[in-house]
Amino acid sequence: MHTLSLTGEFVHPATESAFLEHQLARTRALLGFTLLFCTFFYLCFFVTDVAALGMDTALAATFPARLLVALTAGSCAWLAYRRPLSVRATWLAATVAESVALASFMHIAVQRPQEFHWHAMSLAIMLVVIYLYIPNRLSHAIVLAGTATGVFLELVLRLTTMSFADILTMGLLLVLVNTFGALAARRYNHVSREEFRLQTDLKEAAERDHLTGCYNRRYLHQHLLGLELSRARRFGRPLTVVLCDIDNFKLINDNFGHTKGDEVIKAFADLLAGATRDQVDTVVRYGGEEFLLILPETDLAGGEHLAERLREAFAADRLLLGDNAFGLRTTASFGVACFDFANSQVSYNLPDLISAADKLMYEAKRSGRNRVESMELK
Ligand code: GH3
Ligand code: MG
Ligand code: MG
Repeated sequence: MHTLSLTGEFVHPATESAFLEHQLARTRALLGFTLLFCTFFYLCFFVTDVAALGMDTALAATFPARLLVALTAGSCAWLAYRRPLSVRATWLAATVAESVALASFMHIAVQRPQEFHWHAMSLAIMLVVIYLYIPNRLSHAIVLAGTATGVFLELVLRLTTMSFADILTMGLLLVLVNTFGALAARRYNHVSREEFRLQTDLKEAAERDHLTGCYNRRYLHQHLLGLELSRARRFGRPLTVVLCDIDNFKLINDNFGHTKGDEVIKAFADLLAGATRDQVDTVVRYGGEEFLLILPETDLAGGEHLAERLREAFAADRLLLGDNAFGLRTTASFGVACFDFANSQVSYNLPDLISAADKLMYEAKRSGRNRVESMELK
């Protein structure tokens, strides 16, 4: 999942696009800023056209090309700053600005054919900017920079009378710039993705329980207590919480060992996660073998129905403890508490709902276990 490709990007498409989305605001700011900066310098170099060609010729022969670059790069910079560009749109903006700048550069080089040794130096600087400063996909940068290098060397062959040794040296130096530019860009891709991976791993470790992959209580307290309730309250919707606890779990641990106990907890967690809605419901490991489900947009009947399904499925699972189960079974008890924000003037908060579900769960334990007890708070 975290393997990196030759260009230093995540091989796994979902991971790569999560990374790119995470970076998008920074990418847009960098694109806008870098393009403005480059445009400024590109226009400043008009003084060298004047020095080489004289004002009149420079105005006619090179100024339109410099103006075109300023307009294209300026518009792309404006879009990057002002518009909510997608990742692909930032690549397109970068590629368009880079292509126009390189084409205009070739045009100006042709107008000043005596100075190709200096043009080679300018091209090398442009390539570094393309590889390292303008945020674009590395594969796009390689194609653009490689093509520009090829076209430039073709112009050198056609328009200049440089010696073979000069052309060879120039060509090798440009190849070197391309190689180091691409390697440095690859290393940058690598480092930024490694940092992203560490960040997501740390976030995951801080928010989730290692054994089951469910959210932990820290996540519940930091992110859910206010959030779910304010949503339900704002839209006048019902909210249901279910607290469930495996029955006689100590006996399972005592008879089968801790490892088997862990397996049972994991299987119960998988059952809960599989039966709830992705991205909508939340499963929290509330204690050792005790789990909390937070079910937005769910009324009491919906919560009871889900708890009943979970109870039956867990009790029916004979594989977990195997044939030699000493008469033990995996069962669990459930407390379901609901509050409908559409119907009531009084308001509860999530801890109230959780503590109601907790009482109902103990009620289920007292009434013989492997049961669902439920109540709507009024
Ligand atoms: P009840 O039906 O009343 O819930 O009985 P119980 O035995 O399940 O009750 P209790 O909550 O007292 O016992 C829970 C046990 O779960 C105690 C603890 O040692 C064990 N436990 C807590 N966390 C873990 C864990 O991560 N793995 C394993 N294997 N056992 C755990
Ligand atoms: Mg228990
Ligand atoms: Mg317990």
